[in-house]
Amino acid sequence: MRTRRAALAVTAVSLVLSLAACGQNSEGGSKSNAKESGTSTVGIAMPTKSSERWIADGSNIEAQFKKLGYKTNLQYGEDNVAQQVSQIENMITTGVNVLVVAAIDGRALSDVLQQAADKNIKVISYDRLILGTKNVDYYASFDNEKVGVLQATYIIDKLGLKEGKKGPFNVELFAGSPDDNNTRYFFDGAWKTLKPYIDKGRIKVRSGQTKLDQVTTLRWDGGTAQKRMDDLLTRAYGKEKVDAVLSPYDGISIGILSSLKSDGYGTAAQPYPIVTGQDAEVASVKSIVAGQQTMTVYKDTRALAEQAVQMADALLNDRKPEINDDKTYNNEVKVVPAYLLNPVSVDKSNYQAELVDSGYIKASDLK
Ligand code: BGC
Repeated sequence: MRTRRAALAVTAVSLVLSLAACGQNSEGGSKSNAKESGTSTVGIAMPTKSSERWIADGSNIEAQFKKLGYKTNLQYGEDNVAQQVSQIENMITTGVNVLVVAAIDGRALSDVLQQAADKNIKVISYDRLILGTKNVDYYASFDNEKVGVLQATYIIDKLGLKEGKKGPFNVELFAGSPDDNNTRYFFDGAWKTLKPYIDKGRIKVRSGQTKLDQVTTLRWDGGTAQKRMDDLLTRAYGKEKVDAVLSPYDGISIGILSSLKSDGYGTAAQPYPIVTGQDAEVASVKSIVAGQQTMTVYKDTRALAEQAVQMADALLNDRKPEINDDKTYNNEVKVVPAYLLNPVSVDKSNYQAELVDSGYIKASDLK
């Protein structure tokens, strides 16, 4: 974080320098893209307020742009694809200079992003890759495959499979929304980690549902996951018990835990299985502290916002954004240059250091 803060400070300094240069230039006619931050507006399109992480993302991005002197137009699509498209259309019409977009449906933005390109508005794909269009310039995200690897590795470690416990252990699999490109990266990372144990019969998926299209959860909805878990328990678990559930996101984990609770889990005689998660949302961290959810994957949204801001700021000032990956994220039209951050596995043993001491979550919010 410190290095990134420092990097942002450098960015701010170079912004000031480039603005000075821009001011001098403007007498002789400045370059079309070299905008003064004081007069530039950034359109920020976020997917939903129903999850804490996106509220934090939106306010972090907004605050960091404002600090650099930009105006912002922040909108939430409330998981409604048409609403997000029309919000972005409005941003284009009202004259934003750059767009930062976390898509609801990664494939639904081609037309609206063509309108942006026609007006020379650059686009930064935020956290979720926008697919099927050439009109996405940069991508700021995390190592998404690693998220799945961390969740699955945690399950393997906690079950003692590496230490030689034979099993077989009963594990059920959940994935995210099928229209979010991250879903398949999370699932692929988890699947390739679990598969050797499934192949050897040491992990059993009693429902038989192991294909991505059998385990997705539309719009990452916790209630939908809860219903699917109810169904799995009824159909595949009589006397058998669930030992672990791969859950891709904290909101889904909470739905899964409710279902398990209704089925009699969560007592001394029948403790909860291992349940993974993602995003370090306050409700889930509380659940981890209370011994219900077992782990989450922490992705520092402050650091992600910094990357998106440095990208947009560079583009608006004719500089090249900083990237650290130019291979991984092909959006089916092109490989989108990316800056990928590192996700961190968090459980009861390290939440204090990772989340509280780092200032990500206030200790008082966990009371
Ligand atoms: C994000 C996750 C989040 C999920 C649900 C994904 O695209 O990468 O951090 O848990 O969406 O909001």
